[in-house]
Order: sequence, then structure tokens, then C-alpha cells
Amino acid sequence: MVPDEKGALVIPNNNFTPHRDGLRPRYIILHSSAGGSHAQVVAKYFASTEGSADPLSSHYVIGCDGSIVQCVAERDGAWANRTFSPGHDVFWDETSDPNLSTISLDLCKPSHDNSDMLTGAQQMACFQLIRNICRRWQIPLRLADADGGITGHFSLDPLNRQQCPGPFPWDPLWTFLKEGQRMLELTDPQVAPFFSAGGDGSWLCNSNGVRLRGANLLFYRCYGGPRLFGIPLTNEIYLPQYPNTAIVLCERAMLAYDPDRKIDTPLMSGQCYLLPITTGIGQQLLLQRSNSLIQSLTTKLNQIQILSRF
Ligand SMILES: [Zn+2]
Repeated sequence: MVPDEKGALVIPNNNFTPHRDGLRPRYIILHSSAGGSHAQVVAKYFASTEGSADPLSSHYVIGCDGSIVQCVAERDGAWANRTFSPGHDVFWDETSDPNLSTISLDLCKPSHDNSDMLTGAQQMACFQLIRNICRRWQIPLRLADADGGITGHFSLDPLNRQQCPGPFPWDPLWTFLKEGQRMLELTDPQVAPFFSAGGDGSWLCNSNGVRLRGANLLFYRCYGGPRLFGIPLTNEIYLPQYPNTAIVLCERAMLAYDPDRKIDTPLMSGQCYLLPITTGIGQQLLLQRSNSLIQSLTTKLNQIQILSRF
């Protein structure tokens, strides 16, 4: 099988309805794996259910590291959704087989209750894959309704699959799709003068040696880069009072990786957000920074004064 998605690894299985019995995919359904972080492991599990009483597959599996495995061709109907349950969204036709009109994406989540947030790499791979599938099949770039779109397994089976996919950055997805955003690349003219590759996927700021990495880098690349945020002025700052967070001061903004919402609770549901700078920890960090700048200036002035005495 040639992958529909460029760069996807193929681990095929036979758990699908060929050619969707003549139908076209109109929906993308998001699932999570409830265990396992590697896409290949989940894809091999799907293949192992072939011929069993409960054969199962999604079209794609997206690993925590952002790698994508394709298991079933998009033109075929992967067996990812079993039944409808009471309370399902009204636009679903209970008499139809949902696998014939849907393309299913499975997000690897290590926890058995799907409570994990996506990793930065996983989120970006997922967003781009969704956009590419929508383009290939003219699926509306919005929350599913009677005319098609994107939703989660909970939409079909709220009784048994309320936590499928579990936490998912819906608002950033809509923003990403609406703005037709493409992630900034190192080769882009608005980026190239400021950054070079820093290894491990990080970006190295040419003027000050600061490194942008992980979810903060993805946020920076998705939402404006140097044009909006300016260049980063610090490496990630880890505050002991806020474990599992990372703050980056930029020229024009302060980025915060904070998946558990320990510092602030902005409405947008991604892992990163812009930190308020007139209150709280953002303000403190700015004050600290200006204090240390003043201190280093004072030290330099003192040194000049001392030297001028000789
Ligand atoms: Zn599911």
C-alpha cells in the first residue's frame, strides 16, 4: 500500500471495508489509544486483531513522538467505530455504518483513561494530517455537522466512548485550520536571518545563542514567529514552584508551556499560551530581568570608574 499521507510509515491490515461500499469519507473521527505511546506498536496491535472476534483498525496512528503510521487506505473504511449509543450527535444516521463515511485517526496516549494531553510533536503532526485529509476529500474544516467535518468518537458513542479521544486541543485546531496556517520553517525568509538548526529539532537564535525547543517552539512557529513575538531572549525558564512548565521570554511576548494550567488558565486549550506580563509570575520575571540588567550596567559603570582612576 502506498501511503496517502506523504512520509507516513505503512503497517497494513485487513480490518476494513473495501472502497467504502461506494461511499466517500465526509468526516474525520479522532480516537485515542488508551495505552501505548508508539504508533508502530498500536498499528501492530490492530494487525493482530485480524480474523479475531473483534477486528479493529483506524486509518492512522499518531505516536507521542509525532510519527505517523497508516494502517488502512483512505478510500477504504477502517473498522474503528462500532456502534452508536443514545445521546449521539443528531446528524448521525443510526441505520448507516459509520466506518463507511469516516476517516479515523488514533492518537497514542499512554494512560489507560486517555487523560494525557498531546505532546507538542503529536499535536502538530495531527493538525497537519487533518488538514491534508480534509484537502484530499473536501471535508469541511470545522466541527462536524450534517455536511461533514471533524469530531471525536464521543460524538457517535457518548455512552461508551465519552473519553475518546479525551483531552484534545480543539480551539488551537480550529485556529490552525481557519487561518490555513503553515508552520514556519527555518528556510522561510522571515525566519532564516534569525535562526539556524540547533539539533534535536530545536532552533538556535543566531544573535544570542538561545535555543527554542519542544512545544514552545511549535507554538512560536504556528502563531507568528519573529514577526509577532520577536526573537527569544532566554532559554526555557523552569520555575520550581510550577513543575512541568517552561517559560521563554521573547522580545515582544512571553511564551509559557503549561499543559496542566498551573500558572494561568486561559480559555484556549493548547499546551502553550502567552503569559500575562502585567501581573503574577510574568511581571516578576520582567522585573527580575530589568533588575539584573540594571545590576550589570551598574557593575560595568563601577568598573569603568575604577579603571579611569588609574
Ligand atoms: Zn475511539
